[in-house]
Amino acid sequence: MSDEKFDIPDQFASPAVPEVLTEDSVIRFRCHKDISCFNACCRHADVTLAPYDVIRLQKHLGMHSDEFLKAHTVPFQLDADGVPGIKMRTDDNGACLFLDGANGCSVYEHRPTVCRYYPVALLNMREENTFEVRQQYSLIREEHCKGHEEAREITLRNYRREQGIEEYDELNKAWYELILKKKSGGPGIGKPNEMSLQLFFMASFNFDMLRKFVLSDNFKATYSLPDETYAEVADDDIALMKLGNRLMRQALFGEKTIPEKTGAWEKRVEKRKEVWMARAKAEIEARNARTEDEMRQETTGCSDN
Ligand code: SF4
Ligand code: SF4
Repeated sequence: MSDEKFDIPDQFASPAVPEVLTEDSVIRFRCHKDISCFNACCRHADVTLAPYDVIRLQKHLGMHSDEFLKAHTVPFQLDADGVPGIKMRTDDNGACLFLDGANGCSVYEHRPTVCRYYPVALLNMREENTFEVRQQYSLIREEHCKGHEEAREITLRNYRREQGIEEYDELNKAWYELILKKKSGGPGIGKPNEMSLQLFFMASFNFDMLRKFVLSDNFKATYSLPDETYAEVADDDIALMKLGNRLMRQALFGEKTIPEKTGAWEKRVEKRKEVWMARAKAEIEARNARTEDEMRQETTGCSDN
């Protein structure tokens, strides 16, 4: 156990009972419409979203990615290097926007992983020298949640099945692995540059933009993928999400699973040379201006502020 790394989502950090549970562990819990605390958890929602959560909700709501992200999510940072994550947007009192009064969750069939798991926290763990995700769990006990007082006992295996979590975990697994690998700082993993962070956000959450990107002439001129792959990602969100994961791994960890066309980089450099040179010139000029300003301040001993 000592060589295991824990990755506990922040929202579960304090109320989670620190005992690590497995699928065979039995919990005492039941949530139902007639319980006195019905909806109390959704009135204090802190829900981090994973890619498949976004796909399910967005499709159900029939929204474009930009529209969905703006209306229903807020950004936060997954780690100190600024790797972007998203949480569900709430109203000013912290209530989930999908809470429909006494009717409860208005997107119940498509609710995110965190909502399905509650009051269980998912702990994505890894063993030393591997980036394989091994899932374990922890129980969250919060004052407002009366489900713990109900008489039903259930194994976590059956609870996951009952809540329809298996499909979500299976489809989000590669993304969890990627986050773990980044957080664990494996070989050659430093702070990603701005372009990699933007790619990470697009490939994790903005699927309409990702689709446009991988079907663009520029992408096809750079990468060598079979026509069937392009046809698949044009219609299939899951295939697109999986390709997005490969792209992120390629950008962040140099895992080259998407072959680049011979000479594509050189052609791109040639095409973009003028833009890059203009940018570099502007940066040098800005730096020189800053240096002159600093020298002026040192000489006069004052600043504009
Ligand atoms: S999505 Fe549904 S279950 Fe999850 S916090 Fe919102 S209302 Fe509650
Ligand atoms: S029992 Fe817990 S999970 Fe169910 S509605 Fe009440 S607070 Fe929410």
